[in-house]
Amino acid sequence: MVRENEIRDKEVAVAPPQATDAGLAFIGTIRTPWTSRLACPRQGRADGPICRIELFAPWDQALDGIERFERLEVLYWLHQSRRDLVRQSPANNGETRGTFALRTPVRPNPIGTSIATLVAREGPVLLVRGLDCLDETPLLDIKPDRTLFKPIAPPQPGDFETG
Ligand code: SAM
Repeated sequence: MVRENEIRDKEVAVAPPQATDAGLAFIGTIRTPWTSRLACPRQGRADGPICRIELFAPWDQALDGIERFERLEVLYWLHQSRRDLVRQSPANNGETRGTFALRTPVRPNPIGTSIATLVAREGPVLLVRGLDCLDETPLLDIKPDRTLFKPIAPPQPGDFETG
């Protein structure tokens, strides 16, 4: 069941962190078909609708080379989330789990991540599939999918450490 902002049976809230953006700079806006949390997918799907990631200047310049990657890791700020629950009941049935054992949007720092498929780049805009956030969700960061990315910088000692 999707939460708006209610606290459910047996859930545990604590004093929330101060609601600042922790010094993060929003670098763009994500445009999706979803205007209600009740309608969003719980997790984005690779065959989901095309969404737009609109970069603010000057960060559009940071997209150079991104077309090399079929998939991107997108980080976003789930700006409508409450941030004070340490135990949550996803099924709203009185059974709870710790927040960090869930991918719930309700977390002390409401960062969402998705692996998105890059469909096209149109200047400062990326067209992608695979997101699950509300229209106008603030964008935090974009990285190549780690399984597709090979470091360009030379290796360093820690790269060879095991155990
Ligand atoms: N894929 C991300 C992850 O695993 O980190 C987010 C998963 S979270 C379960 C996705 C849900 O967050 C959506 O179904 C919707 O209910 C909620 N949501 C989406 N955008 C939001 C926003 N901007 N603020 C608050 N909640 C949002």
